[in-house]
Amino acid sequence: MIYLKTDEEIEIMRENNLLVSRALAEVGRHLRPGVTTRYLNDIAEQYIRDNGAEPAFLGYQGFPASACISVNEQVVHGIPSDRVIEDGDIVSVDLGTFLKGFVGDSAYTFAVGDVSAEARQLLEVTKEALCKGVAQAKVGNRVGDISAAVQGYAESFGYGVVRELVGHGVGRKMHESPEVPNFGARGRGPLLKEGMVICIEPMINMGTRAVVFERDGWTVRTKDRKPSAHFEYAVAIRRDGPDILTDFNIIEQALNN
Ligand code: MG
Ligand code: MG
Repeated sequence: MIYLKTDEEIEIMRENNLLVSRALAEVGRHLRPGVTTRYLNDIAEQYIRDNGAEPAFLGYQGFPASACISVNEQVVHGIPSDRVIEDGDIVSVDLGTFLKGFVGDSAYTFAVGDVSAEARQLLEVTKEALCKGVAQAKVGNRVGDISAAVQGYAESFGYGVVRELVGHGVGRKMHESPEVPNFGARGRGPLLKEGMVICIEPMINMGTRAVVFERDGWTVRTKDRKPSAHFEYAVAIRRDGPDILTDFNIIEQALNN
């Protein structure tokens, strides 16, 4: 069952995802060598609560924190801990909000200090792969058009596209139908209709696509321990094209100040 959203509901979802964007910016302002991932989690949680929302990840299927923070070889779902951020790390921060009956869900991978040229390229390509996917998120296309665009762009750089985790519909619940894989064939999968809201979230590995699920029950890391990047937008399918509800400009302006 795919739930279509009204214009009013999409505006509430925009409110959620702009709050996530601002919370990610707040994390970015505090992200530097020497801080722990738990400290960053607490910054995000406080910011979300201070703005009248609930952290949607906390307790979700038993997840023990408000942010998923995944460093370097960690792909997604890293549990905040005493791990100390080091110069040269890349740090994926995935945040969720629950406000006015709807969920916000977006993620950004930050470069900390002196990051290698290879890792910087991985971040740029993953973000661009997300944009290639968004460009296909229009009425009359199919989910596979998004998937193929993300996969084709990322693989053209020799990167591995993670198969085990996918994007998803989002609304009153964090994970709704349809699934939005980052791999697949054009013209396949569910038809995109006006009023659908989906999270497109490429998880792209510098090395192979193989991943390992850690024994903590959550953390996913690359099998070859090479870095992985993750960017996530919530996108509404509108009559006049894709409407990105997340705003990375808020994050990037905060980083440049
Ligand atoms: Mg997310
Ligand atoms: Mg998501």
